[in-house]
Amino acid sequence: MKKILIAGNGVASASALKVLLHEKEIHITVISPEFYPASYKPLFPLISCGKLESYETFLLQPEDYSGENITFLPGVRIEKLSASKRVAYLSDGEEVEFDTALIATGSRVYIPEKFEKGNQRYRNVFTLDTIEEALDLKALIEEGAKNCVVIGAGRTGVNLTNVLANKGINVSLFEKENQILPGLLDNDLSTFISEKLQEKGASVITHPKIKKISAADKFVESISLEDGTRIPCHLVIIATETIPNIEFLEGDFTFAKGLIPNEYLETQESGIYAAGDVVQFLDFNGKRKIQKLAVNAWRQGEIAARNILGERVKCPLSFTGKYVKIDNIFAGYFGERDGTDYFDFSTKNNIVRFTLEGLKITGLQFLGTVEKITELARTGLNRFDTKFIPDEIKKQTTLGFPVFNWHQKLFDF
Ligand SMILES: Cc1cc2nc3c(=O)[nH]c(=O)nc-3n(C[C@H](O)[C@H](O)[C@H](O)COP(=O)(O)OP(=O)(O)OC[C@H]3O[C@@H](n4cnc5c(N)ncnc54)[C@H](O)[C@@H]3O)c2cc1C
Repeated sequence: MKKILIAGNGVASASALKVLLHEKEIHITVISPEFYPASYKPLFPLISCGKLESYETFLLQPEDYSGENITFLPGVRIEKLSASKRVAYLSDGEEVEFDTALIATGSRVYIPEKFEKGNQRYRNVFTLDTIEEALDLKALIEEGAKNCVVIGAGRTGVNLTNVLANKGINVSLFEKENQILPGLLDNDLSTFISEKLQEKGASVITHPKIKKISAADKFVESISLEDGTRIPCHLVIIATETIPNIEFLEGDFTFAKGLIPNEYLETQESGIYAAGDVVQFLDFNGKRKIQKLAVNAWRQGEIAARNILGERVKCPLSFTGKYVKIDNIFAGYFGERDGTDYFDFSTKNNIVRFTLEGLKITGLQFLGTVEKITELARTGLNRFDTKFIPDEIKKQTTLGFPVFNWHQKLFDF
């Protein structure tokens, strides 16, 4: 019987398990640092704000892990995975042998040392990477935490600021660049979102230079900046760039900013596959990027699992794009933001900005209500020769815009 190891228990693992759980002639071992079933991380902020129960974020149910062909090992992580010996060495001292493996260990936020004491993170510092963290944050909010510093104004930081500000929490949003959403929007478009957050009472602080963290009893109490500002905080959320969890791999793997598998998602080590945030894959513009999107993790998990079972399925090009939603306003990008030129279609407070590389459209940015940006995108595309519009862009704009039903729950609140 073929022994399959699944490293990690997140989005890519859940989608792989949905394929593998029906197979009788295999045995699956899932290594999970968390005790919960695989869950959908983008929804964790809603657990903290009391809008969702933990179980509502589950991608699989507890009973999915109790079949005869699966061993679920919660509360442990892989310390080392030897490709040549086909053994995973776990944090509890156990070893798991395997024939085939799926590396689906995702990515994590880097926590600067100043937010730790003796290698332990202060207790009110969060990354919202696990349900446990989401519940700890919820408990502090229920105890009356009122002031929060969110570090990093990317997709996660801005969405969190919005959710927390709606809850009446005073949020100070730190961003090291000179604008919020620097990876998503041009400066002029991001200003609109920044103003929306400020209308809700959030403070947006660009280029913050942290001078001192004051803490007592394992809790951060305030953050002082070099310009003399002292920001009291009951909560700190770090939402900066993430790094892939691949340090434990020992073998002949090709890395850049993530693992680089072939089109079947198999790494250079035969029989060892990779999916999700650990992977750098090609997008529809032919660029190799680390996308860190749930939708890619889900698709890749399924494809890796089918290939593990002996199919030869090529992984489709990755989706590149991110967006935030503030009330009824969507803002974000899809594809490329840098090109040789750009072209705007706008009405009051609604805009679609196409990125051009020569005559070809390589991406677009958008800001506005779904109805308006859909309309603007369609009108805009009609002005271009269809041969210069990649299929991915046609697909997104003809199905409605933006089409990310996948995590609709996130925006139902
Ligand atoms: C707060 C938040 C908001 C987000 N919002 C969005 C969003 O709006 N849209 C979007 O597309 N994406 C969003 N993301 C990103 C999205 O969640 C990830 O892209 C997706 O979860 C990646 O799936 P994955 O399976 O690769 O990794 P994950 O879902 O992160 O799962 C990785 C698993 O591997 C485990 N693991 C790590 N190291 C080890 C080890 N050494 N041994 C064993 N197991 C290990 C982890 O504990 C976890 O169980 C958000 C993420 C966060 C944290």
